[in-house]
Amino acid sequence: MTASRSRRRFLSEVGGIGGAVALGAAAPATAAADAAGGGGGRTSVAVLGGGVSGLSAAHELALRGYAVTVYEYYPVLGGKARSMDVPGTGQGGRRPLPGEHGFRFFPGFYRNLPDTMRRIPFGGNADGVHGNLRNGTEALLARNAGRPGLRLPLRTLTAPPDPSELAPEALLRTVTGLLDTVLHLPADEVAYFAGRVLVHLTSCDRRREDQWEKVPWWDFIRAAEMSQDYQRLLGIGLTRDLAATKAEEASTRTVARTILEAFVIDGILGRGVDGEPDRVLNAPTSEAWIDPWAAELRSLGVVFELGTEVQEVLYGDGRVTGVRVAAPDGGAARTVTADHYVSALPVEHARVTWGSELRAADPQLARCDELRTDWMVGVQFYLKRPVRIVHGHTIYIDSPWAITSVNQAQFWDVRDFPADYGDGTVVDCLSICVSEWNLPGILSGRTAMECTREQVAQEAWAQCKDALNGAGRVLLDDADLHSWFMDPAVTGLGGPTPRNREQLLIHPAGTLYHRPSAATAIPNFFLAGDYVRTDVDLATMEGANESARRAVNALLDADGSTAERCRIWPLFRPPELEPLKRVDELRYQLGLPNTFDLG
Ligand SMILES: Cc1cc2nc3c(=O)[nH]c(=O)nc-3n(C[C@H](O)[C@H](O)[C@H](O)COP(=O)(O)OP(=O)(O)OC[C@H]3O[C@@H](n4cnc5c(N)ncnc54)[C@H](O)[C@@H]3O)c2cc1C
Repeated sequence: MTASRSRRRFLSEVGGIGGAVALGAAAPATAAADAAGGGGGRTSVAVLGGGVSGLSAAHELALRGYAVTVYEYYPVLGGKARSMDVPGTGQGGRRPLPGEHGFRFFPGFYRNLPDTMRRIPFGGNADGVHGNLRNGTEALLARNAGRPGLRLPLRTLTAPPDPSELAPEALLRTVTGLLDTVLHLPADEVAYFAGRVLVHLTSCDRRREDQWEKVPWWDFIRAAEMSQDYQRLLGIGLTRDLAATKAEEASTRTVARTILEAFVIDGILGRGVDGEPDRVLNAPTSEAWIDPWAAELRSLGVVFELGTEVQEVLYGDGRVTGVRVAAPDGGAARTVTADHYVSALPVEHARVTWGSELRAADPQLARCDELRTDWMVGVQFYLKRPVRIVHGHTIYIDSPWAITSVNQAQFWDVRDFPADYGDGTVVDCLSICVSEWNLPGILSGRTAMECTREQVAQEAWAQCKDALNGAGRVLLDDADLHSWFMDPAVTGLGGPTPRNREQLLIHPAGTLYHRPSAATAIPNFFLAGDYVRTDVDLATMEGANESARRAVNALLDADGSTAERCRIWPLFRPPELEPLKRVDELRYQLGLPNTFDLG
């Protein structure tokens, strides 16, 4: 089914619109509103924030006939997910070099976001922008000090192996890396870790929420008593590197349920997944996804007020009465109004827009003050020579700054990098994320937070080289580095007060209890964003999308709409574990530990 046909069918399903109705903006929107019981006029919704959660909410609401206006701080849409031009780098008719807040990957266990992506038309793709996803087939756990990295095939067990994995050189590298890892990880530690995974897999929901949510991952796997390899691979590797949360603090429930069970186990087994474990887009994110999405939303009648800062959500007589907005550069403030309001700002920006009266109306708003964000920042290295590291992502297990990376050009099969971007000499972009900003680096001993922008880039490049070069192999050569670009949301580095406007929600133990629901006690006010309580329980684009679906469903309930509710895909629950979880439910009620929990 083509994306436009699927949209036609979807419109007809949610709003009772016949196939003959034109798909222009106002007509189906009004018809859908009428069909949804919204009366003759269209009910208006102000969506605050134009990131993944705001755009997802706007999409679902517009399809159901609501008149949606999105208010966004930046002059562009997409929030943390968008890509951006590196200023002044396009020559000879080429586009500027592509930069980004941080690279994007779309694990196979995401199912809500892929559903939205399928409904965004793109060229001749039968499944919309979803058709722009490409599979990474390997992951590299890179080690430093000349130790061989562990190269792992990364695909569902049902997928046939990639021929490149079977090449003698690749097999040799995999075996060497595996042997090195196994030889450095004592057998009793491996057995202990496997036992802890079993404990979590068989724990009932209540134990996970009441007990494991309060226990830091570091303690749950007893990392402090284990070898350095155990700590780095199974402690820090699964937390700091992937979710920017310190292993010593990260919630066991979040790490075990979302990263280990959903991403690793279900991803590899291919159960309850949308696709392969590691997927990336085939071009810069805004080109492959965000811009087509904005065009689709405009065609559905969504209005965007860009360059508009939300300053305060105004409250009176038990309802939100308007939103005070202004241009970010300090322009005159004005009040905008709507029937309903969806706050889709990141938590650190949202909570400063909630005044004391609004907070008093729903205590879960004040609890959001307890949620924490941290720095995970992208740096892009533009390369003059093709560098083949791995066909997927690399985790620099030993890098003090918790670096992860991906080489992008190999996946951009619809682009010719030197012909399309920059000055014609750049052939690839090594896009990295730096997730640890408070530990000393290897060049100067300074933390990233203490460095200037240039020093951060130099140090991060050195840490990548430290892991990838060695044993007579030079993968990254200074002579190949054309230039670099760092997330412009980070300002003031090298000065007294470095700032980062685009931080990431982190998940220390107990975070779950402070995450609000999408519905609030205020009848016309709803929350979307990666901090809102969702089943996926990890600050991701999937969580942002799921939260928007929940916010829209709550709004439809409040509005008395008969429109079809947004479908929500929970994380996969392995049916064979349910009997063991039921036993654990009983044990939990009796105050007993999990059957497999030997302490
Ligand atoms: C470096 C990095 C890498 C990441 N990589 C991945 C990944 O590979 N895969 C993945 O799934 N997730 C990834 N994430 C997480 C993911 O980006 C976020 O969870 C998700 O994009 C959040 O979407 P959101 O809509 O909730 O918030 P945002 O994307 O932050 O969108 C909020 C929007 O609100 C706007 N806004 C803020 N304040 C105001 C205001 N006062 N007035 C008006 N507008 C305002 C912002 O400009 C923004 O456009 C990464 C995050 C980071 C930081």
